[in-house]
Amino acid sequence: MTEVKHWQNFIAGEWVDGSESIDVYDPATGEVFASMAAADAADIDRAVQAARACVASGELTDCRPAVRAEMLHRIAAEIRALAEEGAPLLVQESGKSLDDAMGEFTTAARYFEYYAGMADKIEGKSIPLGNDYVDFTYYEPMGVSAQIVPWNFPVDICARSLAPALAAGNAVVVKTPENTPLAMLLLAKACQNAGLPDGALSIINGYGHSTGAQLVAHPGIDQIVFTGSVATGQAILRCAADRALPCVMELGGKSAAVVFNDADMDQLLSSVKWGIFFNAGQVCSAMSRMLVQRAIYDQVVAAVKDLSESLQMGAGMDNADLTPLASADQQNRVASIVNRAKEEGARLVTGGDVPQRAGYFFEATVFADVTPDMSIFRDEVFGPVLAITPFDTEEEAWELANGTEFGLVAGVFTHDLTRAMRASRKLQAGQVFVNEWYAGGIETPFGGIKLSGYGREKGQEALYSYVHTKNVAIRVT
Ligand code: NAD
Repeated sequence: MTEVKHWQNFIAGEWVDGSESIDVYDPATGEVFASMAAADAADIDRAVQAARACVASGELTDCRPAVRAEMLHRIAAEIRALAEEGAPLLVQESGKSLDDAMGEFTTAARYFEYYAGMADKIEGKSIPLGNDYVDFTYYEPMGVSAQIVPWNFPVDICARSLAPALAAGNAVVVKTPENTPLAMLLLAKACQNAGLPDGALSIINGYGHSTGAQLVAHPGIDQIVFTGSVATGQAILRCAADRALPCVMELGGKSAAVVFNDADMDQLLSSVKWGIFFNAGQVCSAMSRMLVQRAIYDQVVAAVKDLSESLQMGAGMDNADLTPLASADQQNRVASIVNRAKEEGARLVTGGDVPQRAGYFFEATVFADVTPDMSIFRDEVFGPVLAITPFDTEEEAWELANGTEFGLVAGVFTHDLTRAMRASRKLQAGQVFVNEWYAGGIETPFGGIKLSGYGREKGQEALYSYVHTKNVAIRVT
């Protein structure tokens, strides 16, 4: 029998238990392997009060910014040191591949290094108002940033918001996703080892409808950073409206790759493998739709079928091509959306079922001849499911690509640079990839438009989600 290890919340520099605990499952086997303390209202209050006290003490803001930069560099080094321990844990709780899990820790460390480099460059402006005035702006941290993280890239996404928030001098209270909370807690360990002041970071666990909802409604927070589903984002925005709290909303997507007749087939297929089957398609910016120009449509559908059928399904620890979904709930959700697509008449090219094996796996699935009236064209699946639609003209392609309520990312495959530039203007999305899905990095601003949310993470731009601008005008004559 597997030993069930118990994990605690990290509140104000201490590891503390909760009144309740939540089981953590291994998606590759469906077995419970750990339990996690859930934070209740009193725990949340303690975390927020500690963050408030940290803000009030000026510990993060009264120092020279270079001191904060050094702190972030130390945290990055600690994260790298914890990767060997953390990556297998992340595999066990999420089902993802070991390479991907290691990549999350590396990326998390990179976020801290990147924003360490910016911590001492958050500079205001001097604004000319004539000889009678001196006018300048400076940036002030928001205060207490409440951050809610989803389960698909918990370590990466936690660091993505935490690093710029700390770089700007905020204190942070993070809520983990209930089914993948463990590896993320190592970020608290890294911060503790690096000497981050107590209260500057608390990481609390618990269900969204209780712990999450209580955190975002707490009167002691000054900002909400939410990454997750549209429905939860909307519920949080309603709550934030009561106090006019600033929010960053990183929500879902249904992103399309537009493939023109002159696309390079090798580039396209490696982008498909990465774009929709990486992490079993549980990526907000996944290539969940593909629009293919008519002359190469049959050829592309056949090549994507071969690719999908060549993928080896297996456990994350074996670095299989197709790893399990993160939970039984997610497996049921994917199965139900796929069944609906079949009923609505989408042509099933390959896959389409839960395989006969333990764990929360789902077959690599491809639908062709998908039309805009079908739910599989519009609804986010968050699984290894690709919907392919043919098109004839460029104008039709833009209309199809923009024809959902989402606007997170989009891609174009063509060697016509003029057309690629047109695509970059016509596609309604926060990021446009040309000839490589996921082109970009932690340095490039990321976020959505439409129902995919607003605000930007990553890049220099993200830092300004964590500060207010203050203008000071001085009459000098
Ligand atoms: P989810 O909305 O169910 O949960 C996300 C987080 O919100 C979890 O920590 C959950 O506990 C918490 N939560 C749930 N209800 C809450 C409430 N009422 N108040 C406060 N917190 C609450 O989403 P999910 O299923 O975990 O993640 C998948 C979704 O996230 C997909 O739609 C995906 O596209 C999106 N996502 C977006 C990005 C991005 O950067 N745009 C990145 C990853 C995932």
